[in-house]
Amino acid sequence: MRAALVSIFALAAALAAAPAAADFERERSTHFLLLYDVEFDTRTGRGGSGRFERGVLQSLEASHRTLDALLGIAPRRRVDVVVHDPGRFDRDFAWRFRFPSAGFYGERIHIRGSATVSAALETVLAHELVHAAVDERAPSLVVPGWVNEGLATWFEARRAGKGRMSPSERNALAEVDARGGWIAIERLATPSFAAFGPGEASRAYLQSYALIEHLVERRGERALRDFVRRVLRTGDARTALRRAGRMEPAELDRSLRESLRR
Ligand SMILES: [Zn+2]
Repeated sequence: MRAALVSIFALAAALAAAPAAADFERERSTHFLLLYDVEFDTRTGRGGSGRFERGVLQSLEASHRTLDALLGIAPRRRVDVVVHDPGRFDRDFAWRFRFPSAGFYGERIHIRGSATVSAALETVLAHELVHAAVDERAPSLVVPGWVNEGLATWFEARRAGKGRMSPSERNALAEVDARGGWIAIERLATPSFAAFGPGEASRAYLQSYALIEHLVERRGERALRDFVRRVLRTGDARTALRRAGRMEPAELDRSLRESLRR
């Protein structure tokens, strides 16, 4: 109990003093600063092999390069990444996040400490890096949820080497549409899907991903790059889509639904 209290304070102090703390020097990479919970630290971090931390930084740097190459929106400022003791992550953070292994919150990427960097964690890190990039480039804009989440999910798939949506994802969406469960794109403009119920939220994520993918299918990745950069400059997805994709959001939505019926 006492140890837990001590480490909460140590973590708070580490977070407050993050950029200057010499103790964290070792975990710095070109674009990321990795901070970790002292309890977890004694097992795999500074006091241990540091393999997990190095793996996290390597994975994030690789995603950073890919995000810049594909969309030109990788964060320019260094991003803070906090590795938490698994128990504390589950208690303090997991409920905030969609994934049980990491999330972006309070301008930082939070990660559940582990022994190894799994492929699943790498995928989540790629997803959360997009949120960090959107947050950095458009801190005061209301970016539509379908753009932010759709892009994060599209990038996560792209980073994992996955091409198009899988047949099972397409079938699931076609079925949602056939049963009348399709969420109108206007409702997906809400910046966060947190207010949706669990079933509706997963449909919202999948539809958002499908919209971004359909834009790429219709107009190519260059158009997506142009669209995203315009949205992050202005917050106006409608005008951005008109300029970069030569269509209205409602048209993109309709075209996606038609393509699912084929
Ligand atoms: Zn997300």
